[in-house]
Amino acid sequence: MHYFAYRNNELYAEEVAVRDIAAQIGTPVYIYSAGTLRRHFRVFDEAFAGADHLICYAMKALSNLSILKLFGAMGSGFDIVSVGELMRCLRAGADPKKIVFSGVGKTDEEIAAALQAGILMFNVESRPELYRIAEVARRLKLKAPVSLRVNPDLDPGTHPHISTGHRTSKFGIPLSEVFDYYAEARGLADLELVGLSTHIGSQITDTGPFIEAGEKVATIVRRLKADGIALRYLDIGGGLGIPYQEEPPPPAEYAAAILKPLAGLGVKIIAEPGRVLVGNAGILVTRVLYVKQTDVKRFIVVDGAMNDLIRPVLYEAYHAIWPVQKFEGRPGVIADVVGPVCESGDFFAQDRELPDPRDGELLAVMSAGAYGFVMASNYNSRPRAAEVLVEGKTMHVIRERDSFEDQVQREKLVEFQS
Ligand SMILES: *Cc1c(COP(=O)(O)O)cnc(C)c1O
Repeated sequence: MHYFAYRNNELYAEEVAVRDIAAQIGTPVYIYSAGTLRRHFRVFDEAFAGADHLICYAMKALSNLSILKLFGAMGSGFDIVSVGELMRCLRAGADPKKIVFSGVGKTDEEIAAALQAGILMFNVESRPELYRIAEVARRLKLKAPVSLRVNPDLDPGTHPHISTGHRTSKFGIPLSEVFDYYAEARGLADLELVGLSTHIGSQITDTGPFIEAGEKVATIVRRLKADGIALRYLDIGGGLGIPYQEEPPPPAEYAAAILKPLAGLGVKIIAEPGRVLVGNAGILVTRVLYVKQTDVKRFIVVDGAMNDLIRPVLYEAYHAIWPVQKFEGRPGVIADVVGPVCESGDFFAQDRELPDPRDGELLAVMSAGAYGFVMASNYNSRPRAAEVLVEGKTMHVIRERDSFEDQVQREKLVEFQS
């Protein structure tokens, strides 16, 4: 469900015509719907209403300051994976007590910054990291709240690049060593053992793997309690999919499924949704430059490219493509939608049926809110796209398109010797 819809054959973002945004801001442009973001947060939050819980938006999915501010104002906490994300949160006015820090490679500087900010907890992913956090905490004379991220060793049935819950992945501590880890962590005076966490992957479209993970972590929490380690938080990660093409369960069904094995544990549940909050709250609007017909294929060459949205080639991801203006009686054609970048992987869709787009017309790449702009690069010296947030009749430019100077400002022209 989202607030991008047609009125008189014209695509609108809430109350604003997409065509007007493109005319004013140029293309390619990311457009987000504030109403959709708020609705998604509310629906997800309500799904967990039956449990003591905190939602920590996994901000790596879409980390613009205004998006963080919007979620923060709704009571969201944040799941961060770098000091840059920590600083974005703080800049957007987030409450540090609602920040959890995940990731396998936290540096000393990142650990120190997070400790000084007073975050809720570190999700620890290895033994050396555990000792490193203790060491940094000791140096700063602070106590580090930690949660151990366990790898539940299961197959979430998603793309291998976004599958994190199998024991062959780099994430989490092995299931077989969990109790040793807790016993060891308990002996470290500079740590405060507050939780257990897990995150099994992304774009998961079935409740089965979540239930399996829930059952495994519930068993661990119970045994830890019996061993005298009473945890305060159980962080269940994120990973719920969105309907790119698949049909994932709605948040209420997901929450009911995962909460069932967690009943009666006496812990606060932390959920880290990313994609499901922002995925279909954003579109990437691009203009058709050329229609190129070869003897075997039709290519719709657009001004957006893989540097703007890399998901199709990186994850074999499917994004629906809608015409911004619908024309009655246009025949369908089968075409590849490709960008100007010099790579064959530069496509938004392949062999897709489309209503015969013509030069100068606009296309909307749907469900581009998550892992879209955040993965954008300047490859081919292309500026990163502008980002616009629509709220009812109002549009806010929340990030301007890169200028050429933005791209070269840190480069130096060497004074050569010869
Ligand atoms: C990426 C990530 C998330 C969010 O995943 P989604 O699939 O976007 O919900 C949550 N927790 C951790 C630790 C992550 O790395």
